[in-house]
Amino acid sequence: MLRTALGRAQKRQGLPHSKTLTPVLLKLETENLNLTFGDAEIVVIGGGGVGCGVVHSLCQAGKTDVLLLEKNEALASETTSQAAGLVGQVRTSVDRVKLAMWSVKTFSAMEAEPEAKPGWRQVGSLRVALTDERVVEFEQMKSTADEAGLETAFISADEARDKWPMFDFSPAKSVLWCPSDGYLQPNDLAMAYAHRARQAGARLATGVTVEGIRTENGRVTGVDTNRGAIACDTVINAAGAHAWHIAQMAGLSLPIFPVRHEYFVSVDADGMHPDLPVMRVPDASLYLRAEINGLLLGGWEPESLSLKPDEFKNGETPPRIDEDWDVMGWFIEQITLLYGKAADLGVRSIFKGWPTFVPDGKFIIGESQQLGGLVMAGGCNAHGVSGSAGIGRHVVESMLEPEPSDYVRSLSPDRFLDTEWDSAAAQTSAKRVYETYYGLGS
Ligand SMILES: Cc1cc2nc3c(=O)[nH]c(=O)nc-3n(C[C@H](O)[C@H](O)[C@H](O)COP(=O)(O)OP(=O)(O)OC[C@H]3O[C@@H](n4cnc5c(N)ncnc54)[C@H](O)[C@@H]3O)c2cc1C
Repeated sequence: MLRTALGRAQKRQGLPHSKTLTPVLLKLETENLNLTFGDAEIVVIGGGGVGCGVVHSLCQAGKTDVLLLEKNEALASETTSQAAGLVGQVRTSVDRVKLAMWSVKTFSAMEAEPEAKPGWRQVGSLRVALTDERVVEFEQMKSTADEAGLETAFISADEARDKWPMFDFSPAKSVLWCPSDGYLQPNDLAMAYAHRARQAGARLATGVTVEGIRTENGRVTGVDTNRGAIACDTVINAAGAHAWHIAQMAGLSLPIFPVRHEYFVSVDADGMHPDLPVMRVPDASLYLRAEINGLLLGGWEPESLSLKPDEFKNGETPPRIDEDWDVMGWFIEQITLLYGKAADLGVRSIFKGWPTFVPDGKFIIGESQQLGGLVMAGGCNAHGVSGSAGIGRHVVESMLEPEPSDYVRSLSPDRFLDTEWDSAAAQTSAKRVYETYYGLGS
């Protein structure tokens, strides 16, 4: 590809296709930096967990003329770097369970390889119900898991205590156990995808900001970047909190709203070790796991803080988030029913970021009918790390399969482009998705 681009540039400059390659390349690198990269069949915008996962899936499907562009100097340095790495497969729909199962299968295969591991620990997960309504929901979730072929089981409070000895499970009305769940290290996952994609022939470039989308006759023809223009047939928008900006550049208005999310990791605590299962206590809006010998505790506060996407610009990092100690205090208060010692724990660090939410709480995946070649991989509703392999698979399905499944079609960006939507109402709905993340039936 680089040779082709050089050939074209040489032709433009009246130079022969010949031995002058090196001096021409040096000259062009200063004059027209796009030739450092060359053109590509597919450009992926964004080098977070989703973008890297999409490139990995494309390579697995035999598409390797792929160029990923990341504006920061390092991959996975925005939202992905802050994620807790929880990977949960128990969901409320069969399709969603299967997407998560695909991710788990991918993480297990990567972890089994000798190098570039995602840090995947298949420690299982406990889901604890504190109310009768939640017990009913767990029963429904178990049926959904059964239908999808995911192994789960109800276990007693004593069995739960065997798995988390420091916790008091006597208030639990039911505990659902999923042995194949777990957690991973989000940065390691992105690097693991990137390593495999590079080995397959894909190119991943950092320090490159996409500033415009080129179109002609209703189709994408390339991107403009701070390092020059790049021609391509397809652009995949995996720009996380900037996915709205990238869609806007292409003339598409999508309701993608960043909502603040945070959790903390405590100082070392008695009994904590990395092989403890992940735990979710939806009636208290909490999730937790061990992070080495500390407690990682996060949740979904009832009054969220969100941004309008035009409050920050393309190319900028989203606004800084200050530590919100009231929210950390609320998490601790919520967990003391099961873990009284939480109140005495010191906080070692707080992680925070702006995952994106959309009004219907579903991913936005696939090509828009309104602009050929513009493919979305966004609106992750805080599942972007755990979902990344499944999202990548569905992006590929939307692009390459003549008849994508009903589920993949239901994730199309056109569901928002074919109708008028009100920005304020859409933001309220997106916030609500966050606030009711562990709401009954969500
Ligand atoms: C505190 C916290 C805890 C979380 N815990 C979990 C969890 O346990 N499990 C889970 O699955 N998810 C979790 N999430 C959500 C998860 O982090 C996100 O869903 C996921 O990281 C989104 O990945 P992404 O690649 O879409 O976005 P990002 O990681 O933000 O990547 C997008 C990339 O695009 C780049 N970019 C943007 N604009 C441009 C441009 N114009 N040109 C070039 N590059 C550009 C950005 O620099 C960025 O690196 C958590 C999030 C937070 C904040």
